Amino acid sequence: MSQRSGILFLVSGPSGSGKTTLCRRLSEEGEASYAISCTTRQPRPGETHGKDYFFLSIPEFKEKIANGEFLEFAEVHGNFYGTLTSEVINKLEQGTDVVLDIDVQGAAQVRDTTNPTVKNALVDIFIMPPSKEELHKRLSGRGTDSTEVIATRMKNSLEEMEHWPKYTFRLLSRTHEEDYTHFKSLLLGERLRINRHL
Ligand code: 5GP
Repeated sequence: MSQRSGILFLVSGPSGSGKTTLCRRLSEEGEASYAISCTTRQPRPGETHGKDYFFLSIPEFKEKIANGEFLEFAEVHGNFYGTLTSEVINKLEQGTDVVLDIDVQGAAQVRDTTNPTVKNALVDIFIMPPSKEELHKRLSGRGTDSTEVIATRMKNSLEEMEHWPKYTFRLLSRTHEEDYTHFKSLLLGERLRINRHL
């Protein structure tokens, strides 16, 4: 029997869809490794460098672009975000499942990759908030962002939601427990695919 190859569980959805919490829980329960992204945005209260993100200056981020260190990167809500190739490839090759929490632009780049390890490992999921009203409530409820930031995020979220048909799976968010059950079921199902064991 061969060792199973790793799954790249790519998760997108608007801010407030609850996707980061789902991805983090999968990692905390030891089901997958959370790929820590780089960002040029400021840390929110309670966020730690190297755990939530690698918080970089714009020149530091640009240097990594120039060195070809990113699997994908994009400008989201006025800041740069990117996934380091080093956070993904080795783990997949070792048979570890990796969870990526990235926006729709980053997802498009990962889908278009020519890297066979990434291509074969990819499973993409879009998390939809239950309604626009609930999305607004969730975005406001975070309590750390200004009204202006919330308005921008709401507008971007609605635009982002138009991209769901490009994904293989769509998860309509309800309660966190229900969402997590569906989310984990997808991963468990994907692990059983014959071609992951050949
Ligand atoms: P936040 O600032 O709320 O943590 O994240 C804002 C958005 O950036 C979210 O939609 C999140 O999925 C996305 N994001 C986080 N990391 C990355 C990344 O490495 N690449 C891309 N393309 N988007 C990311």
